[in-house]
Amino acid sequence: MARRTMLSCLLPGALSPLFCLWAVLLPVVSPNSLNHHEHQDPRPKLLLVSFDGFRWDYIDRVPTPNFRKVMDEGVKVEFVENVYITKTYPNHYSMVTGLYAETHGIVANEMYDPALNLSFSMETDSMYDPRWWEEAAPLWVTIQKDGGRSGAAMWPGSDVKIHGMFPTRYLQYNASVSFEYRVRRLVEWLSAPEEEAVDFGVLYWEEPDESGHNLGPQSPLMDAIIAGIDEKLGFLMDELKKAGLYEKVNLIVTSDHGMAQLSPEKIIELDEYVDRDLYTWVDKSPVVGIMPKEGKVDEVYGLLMDANPNMVAYKKEEVPARLHYQHNIRITPILLEAKEGWTIMQNRSGPFMLGNHGYDNTLRSMQPVFVARGPAFRQNYVKTAMRSIDLYPLMCHILSTRPLPNNGSLLNIQDLLSSEPAASTPTPAHPATPPEHHGYSYAPVVGSFIGVVMVLGFLVVYVLLVTLKQRPALKHRSWEMSQPLLQEDLHL
Ligand code: AMP
Ligand code: ZN
Ligand code: ZN
Repeated sequence: MARRTMLSCLLPGALSPLFCLWAVLLPVVSPNSLNHHEHQDPRPKLLLVSFDGFRWDYIDRVPTPNFRKVMDEGVKVEFVENVYITKTYPNHYSMVTGLYAETHGIVANEMYDPALNLSFSMETDSMYDPRWWEEAAPLWVTIQKDGGRSGAAMWPGSDVKIHGMFPTRYLQYNASVSFEYRVRRLVEWLSAPEEEAVDFGVLYWEEPDESGHNLGPQSPLMDAIIAGIDEKLGFLMDELKKAGLYEKVNLIVTSDHGMAQLSPEKIIELDEYVDRDLYTWVDKSPVVGIMPKEGKVDEVYGLLMDANPNMVAYKKEEVPARLHYQHNIRITPILLEAKEGWTIMQNRSGPFMLGNHGYDNTLRSMQPVFVARGPAFRQNYVKTAMRSIDLYPLMCHILSTRPLPNNGSLLNIQDLLSSEPAASTPTPAHPATPPEHHGYSYAPVVGSFIGVVMVLGFLVVYVLLVTLKQRPALKHRSWEMSQPLLQEDLHL
């Protein structure tokens, strides 16, 4: 009797096996079962690397033996659809939140928030105000709340206190700090003694974006820049090997966006169409945020809507739904989107670049590279397409941490994994509406609900069997089902 659970004592004998079944099934169906602190094994390690502006096809342009090695030993994705607008800040925050920019709130590199009456710019300290970032929580915050540790080497936003937290280890942003220094620090953090080692690392490098802007992606001079990035990847792999981490760490190498070739012949001068006094210019080409002065939205829109065949003007509420770029106060009332390769300026006196990004995220030129290797990944596998927001649930799965509500889907991307995730993985596939991202996951409620429904289902089936069948059969069935409990009773 002592070995029987308290609840099974309270249940009639015939129901005890049902309780046992429930007790066995509940941890399987409940997303709480993913909580890492319930696991005994050390948390798997994951390092996410972004080479800013590394376009998907750069790996085939010059020999890139290190990218190729990662692909051969792991996976590659050919088409990666990133998020609109295809700029650095929105995309880096999407990768670590699984959210479209309209939902995570970092809608551009330059923003104005009318509710806060604040401007955000990468070039000022404004970006250190947590209020810009707290419409979402990045993965390093989630993993630390789940008892894990993270390390960040200059990932956009990683030196900002978000929801009261910095990454466990991080570097203050400084563009002049070398790639090699960033790598050495990260490898040091990943290989620290077990009780201090970070589980999740993020690493950012400014190239080949900077050269892509200055030279234009078609320049032959880009070949050497790309080869140099491959060498940097080789350095990272060597450092991981030296630290004995190469076989343990799951390494993802990707980027925020690609790069399009511009031309001085393809310039749209806004001053030709609209008086500067009528609006404030918030974000730069190729998707220019226009904030008309009080009461001037219709007038400014009327002047711009058919102004130039190489530029589309959207009122905010008319932005196509597929771009997921509407539902945020920081998106300006009017957006001007240049056609690929075109530049929007007020006039030609401003600085001109030979390469740029920010255009429509379905353009091939805007898409980034994606390769990954490590114990969680399949080997020598090429996947056709993914969305960069799917990376977040994938990383949560690898790190055994429960994702916050997000726009991504593990289902879309799980074929990259060496073993199929359990069916219970609590990732919502394509939520129809932008999720509430201030709160916590609703997954435990869903898990418990499924558990209760299953128990009720078994109860109904059992009662039907018991009541609808004739008595001799009932006697036989009843004996079979309660036999384990009777045996336990007999031994006590
Ligand atoms: P983009 O204009 O979208 O090409 O942005 C790329 C540039 O963003 C890089 O060349 C860096 O100068 C800048 N950047 C990236 N991360 C940070 C950061 N954490 N703080 C300030 N600037 C950054
Ligand atoms: Zn970038
Ligand atoms: Zn750039």
